[in-house]
Amino acid sequence: MTDYTHRARKRFGQNFLHDAGVIHRILRAIHARDGEHLVEIGPGQGALTEGLLDSGAWLDVIELDLDLIPLLQQRFGQRPNFRLNQGDALKFDFARLDPAPHGLRVVGNLPYNISTPLIFHLLEHAGQIRDMHFMLQKEVVERLAAQPGGGDWGRLSIMVQYHCQVEHLFNVGPGAFNPAPKVDSAIVRLVPHAQPPHPAKDPRQLERIVRDAFNQRRKTLRNTLKGLLDAEAIEAAGVDGGLRPEQLDLAAFVRLADQLSARQPRDGEQTSDR
Ligand code: SAM
Repeated sequence: MTDYTHRARKRFGQNFLHDAGVIHRILRAIHARDGEHLVEIGPGQGALTEGLLDSGAWLDVIELDLDLIPLLQQRFGQRPNFRLNQGDALKFDFARLDPAPHGLRVVGNLPYNISTPLIFHLLEHAGQIRDMHFMLQKEVVERLAAQPGGGDWGRLSIMVQYHCQVEHLFNVGPGAFNPAPKVDSAIVRLVPHAQPPHPAKDPRQLERIVRDAFNQRRKTLRNTLKGLLDAEAIEAAGVDGGLRPEQLDLAAFVRLADQLSARQPRDGEQTSDR
């Protein structure tokens, strides 16, 4: 049998888990079961993959690094519940794996350089996803789980909490990885809401409002939203325009987004001068 040895690559964000205690704790938090459908992003050398397959659940893995493919194939290719997908998780169409609503369980010790765009990509498939468990940079988990009023509350917190319930499960120190990253890490659980608790008329308008509001987070809403909403519209949303964006909760941002929807023509509608 060929023995594949692999040198960790920085450009693929490769920090491989080697601490058996941490691996066990992550697997316990995920608690995969026979009959479920899991997707692991970035299986690497298989630190989590083995335990996930042992659960009996069906497992799709998505790995970008071509050099890891033979190693994964050799280690797990014989397992009947294993499927290897070589490619970029950022471009992967998760909907094609399981069209059943709320079926997929997505997990991964994510490459930190792509974790935020990957979460936004997954939110587009939130309807297919039952839950997600990720290892991320600790600061990112703190932003995901943040509450209004502090410096961590921002675009990532609001857009993820619009779609998901967020739980910061536990922290993991650099020593659990090889090579050790320079930052602390943490495990987060994201559970997509069956129905958003504060549904926006058009979630794309929520994205616009939140992006503009936090572009200059030190300024008042009256100033940062000038290009989108006038003072009257901000007031109609029941929001004090003199506040800074980090002082507003999700429900208030949704009210602002709905004001924007009410003032903008919908897709396909023509504006007229008459
Ligand atoms: N799961 C393994 C572990 O815990 O030891 C490896 C985790 S390592 C932090 C991240 C993994 O994601 C690497 O195997 C890397 O090659 C892979 N990766 C990086 N970018 C990716 C992408 N865009 N799509 C899929 N996998 C990617």
